[in-house]
Amino acid sequence: MVAPTACHPCGVDLSAITIPSELLPADGRFGCGPSKVRSEQITAIRDAATTIMGTSHRQAPVKDLVGNVRSGLTELFGLPDGWEIILGNGGSTMFWDAATFGLINSRSQHLVFGEFSSKFADAASSAPHLDQPTVISTEPGDHPTAVAEEGVDLYALTHNETSTGVSMHLERPAGIADDALVAVDATSAAGGLSWRPSEVDVYYFAPQKSFASDGGLWIAACSATAVERIEQIAATDRWRPAALDLGIALSNSRLNQTYNTPALATLIMLNAQIEWMLENGGATWVADRVATSASTIYGWADTHSLATPFVNDPAKRSHVVATIDLDDSIEATAVSAVLRAHGIVDTDSYRKLGRNQLRVGMFPAIDPADIERLTACIDHVMEQLAS
Ligand SMILES: *Cc1c(COP(=O)(O)O)cnc(C)c1O
Repeated sequence: MVAPTACHPCGVDLSAITIPSELLPADGRFGCGPSKVRSEQITAIRDAATTIMGTSHRQAPVKDLVGNVRSGLTELFGLPDGWEIILGNGGSTMFWDAATFGLINSRSQHLVFGEFSSKFADAASSAPHLDQPTVISTEPGDHPTAVAEEGVDLYALTHNETSTGVSMHLERPAGIADDALVAVDATSAAGGLSWRPSEVDVYYFAPQKSFASDGGLWIAACSATAVERIEQIAATDRWRPAALDLGIALSNSRLNQTYNTPALATLIMLNAQIEWMLENGGATWVADRVATSASTIYGWADTHSLATPFVNDPAKRSHVVATIDLDDSIEATAVSAVLRAHGIVDTDSYRKLGRNQLRVGMFPAIDPADIERLTACIDHVMEQLAS
């Protein structure tokens, strides 16, 4: 899409708008993935320039790094005994396919409330070896609730729907079978939002959001019940591609390896971010930090005459991805374009949602003080456009 040069409703030439430098945030990256990487994470790559970068992933230096990632996540999430961290290449999208082959026994139920949650449902519904899944959906801006259902062996939830800025409180649906799995897409939530392992069996994500790393990896925290399911399906003769075989991923992960070659810089940045979170106080600290950013931006939008939080229910407003509707008199794409011209990038809405909206990442790496400065910059731009 070509960036607008003028605001259509108001006719203002965008190049005439300048944001005073004292209003600008210290870092202008507010995207929802890839998202802001802290400079200390880049330093960590430089520090490993000759010891890890360019070395074999089958040798101790890289295996120790993968081991640190696995134990660091176990600590960060407070995982009980029996849980395991499994990882592989391909990001969360690839995990949906892996789950379709190696985690769903015969039938799944999916809560669909945006672009990302719909994709796992599509993957399961087109798999020839599975029965048709149940899909429970709501309009964007809200989320549905899972209900226990006979014959369903996997309930697919999404902790934070990145396309709409809706988050859901994670709870095991009442009355489901003892061996049914609750599998949660936590791609943008993991490392930011709180959750309790007792409510979940599989909590999977990719590192380019709250973990401020690069994409291309999937990571799944799995309960003992989930590990058992993976092993059961792996023992059957159901055909699955080796790269999507969770049994193979499990045995490699236990050796602190991936089935095929991972991007080492991604692992270094991920590990540095986990260590940073743990050093500062872990899960409570990150949850408080993103809650501060969230209360700043929603508080600002709630009282603004030209801005409104898109998500009506305050309890469902995400603390890591804010979606803010603008009044029709102000074109959100024009606001984003002016911000971008001043180094404040990726505040654009999720395009398929088709709303006059700004979307702002508030992951732990993003300083809450910068969220405050961002609101001042948006105010400044909107004043110029409205005048
Ligand atoms: C970003 C995102 C994905 C896709 O992640 P990839 O690593 O690009 O496959 C899936 N689900 C959610 C909720 C996301 O935010």
